[in-house]
Amino acid sequence: MLNICAICIIIAIWYLLILLYNTTMTILNLIKKYLNFIFFPTKCAVCNKKNQNYICDDCKNRLNNIFDPKIVDNIQPGLVCMACFEYKNEIRDMIHSFKFKNQKYISSILSDFLSFGIKKVFKNKKIDLITFVPMFLNIQDDLKYNHAKILAESTAKKLNLPFKNCLGKICNNKKQHNLSFYERQKNVKGVYTAAGKFKNKNILICDDIITTGATLFECKNELEKAGANVLCATVAFTSLH
Ligand SMILES: [Zn+2]
Repeated sequence: MLNICAICIIIAIWYLLILLYNTTMTILNLIKKYLNFIFFPTKCAVCNKKNQNYICDDCKNRLNNIFDPKIVDNIQPGLVCMACFEYKNEIRDMIHSFKFKNQKYISSILSDFLSFGIKKVFKNKKIDLITFVPMFLNIQDDLKYNHAKILAESTAKKLNLPFKNCLGKICNNKKQHNLSFYERQKNVKGVYTAAGKFKNKNILICDDIITTGATLFECKNELEKAGANVLCATVAFTSLH
């Protein structure tokens, strides 16, 4: 009887210690968050106002209102790509800051929308892997990190899907954004290759923007040669102006 009482007391003390530890950690985290907010204020990635999160409620609501995930029509034969927004205004600014101004945290906001779009538009599709378009990084260049990789990895985490580097880039090419439709097709020809065999794997390529779809089309073809079925998803769509 005495032994049972002693065990009960030990268990009770153990639970109390765990409770005390959890409460202390919660309070310490709150203090840390508050001090960070005072001394290193987070700003909304859209309106730049001080905010506890990377996007304020007003901007999030505004983006929710224009969030319209759908398949981009007839962009390249056989290419199925979902895009969440039109590439303009705050979406264009956020993607630009994410790519060129080292604001990697913006990937978290963009991947939220991207993962919701994928869940909605591809709800009946099986996805085995998420991948990205590879790039050569050059310290002299504007691009110092592969933003598409960060975005795809963050999206995979939110969708609880495996993330894998499925493509390789064989040679460097010109940037696509100053090229015409036909120059873009030519510029990506033979630049990518599948990084292995992907027989019957359903692969989703995530990217920031789709314009003519030339890059995604080339990547899709290479993965299909390696046996995969391919879908694509981007944050935004735009057309050549
Ligand atoms: Zn805001």
